Amino acid sequence: MSKQEESYEDQIQREFNQSQEGQNEPVKSIGRVKLERKRESDPNIDRINDMIGYHDVPLECLPSGGRYYPENTRISIRAARVGEIREFSTIDEDNMKDVTDKLTYIISQCCKVYYGNVLGNYKDIITADRIVLILKIRELTFVGGSSLIKVPVPSGACKTVGCIPQQSVDFCSNNLSFVEPSPELEKYYDIVNRCYNITTKSFGVITLYPPNIGVTSAIMDWIVKEQKEKHKVDASLAEILQFVIKDWRGLSEKAIFSKLTELSGWSTEKFTLVYRLIEKVNVGVEFNIKTQCQSCGGDLEIPITFPDGYKSLFVPTISDIGDELL
Ligand SMILES: [Zn+2]
Repeated sequence: MSKQEESYEDQIQREFNQSQEGQNEPVKSIGRVKLERKRESDPNIDRINDMIGYHDVPLECLPSGGRYYPENTRISIRAARVGEIREFSTIDEDNMKDVTDKLTYIISQCCKVYYGNVLGNYKDIITADRIVLILKIRELTFVGGSSLIKVPVPSGACKTVGCIPQQSVDFCSNNLSFVEPSPELEKYYDIVNRCYNITTKSFGVITLYPPNIGVTSAIMDWIVKEQKEKHKVDASLAEILQFVIKDWRGLSEKAIFSKLTELSGWSTEKFTLVYRLIEKVNVGVEFNIKTQCQSCGGDLEIPITFPDGYKSLFVPTISDIGDELL
């Protein structure tokens, strides 16, 4: 394209790119990471920045399969930036809430949700989709072979007597398998309202929503607060709670408490039924990777683990950066 044909928007973008050289490049090596330069916030630059480096994730690549988002939903991701990786690296592996908060932080920074052309909110993302989006962000962030995660093959993983399989399996977001939707629940899937409307004999229609990040986080924050104040929280009620609340908007502590009070008033029969039903709302990742034994060709099922912790999702370990060391 000649300079004359370049649109005004393209021109701004090109100039912006030149001024930002290096800043938006995926991090190739932790050894060469530069500190982010500070700049004044400029809405125009922010807008253009937003146009750069975002990639749509096909919704069928996610555990939800896109079935619980409005019809015209689009989810777009970009590589994590150095400052975000620094923030993530303070993750406290022993604190499940901190782990979830840090994963959500990456989502909040690197994911955009659109309904048609209207910008939505990352909190609308189905919680079960979070880990797959994180892996995809990781793959954009670390280009090449360093984006592969090596999952160790536990001893005895190969069922062939005396066989010694490979030590580890490479895995990425594309070779995960997802839990299949329960066939019993399928006829209650409401394609218009993107949830389950389950008609029951004794309790009318029970509506269940696979939880989204906003709902899950609000309930988790509330549980942590209650526990700090030494209040007992019924874990099974809290679990059901996530599935009966549609929207995180307006979900105050008061609203959570009043919904929980409503749930505690249910009969044992209703409670048991709903508890069994949420077990059937299968949205998530299979915990095993299915692959082939490289020694005997037999089937291997390897549990997914992050041997170097969640931190290693964005902070490469020494074995990853080994070729940097001279
Ligand atoms: Zn084998």
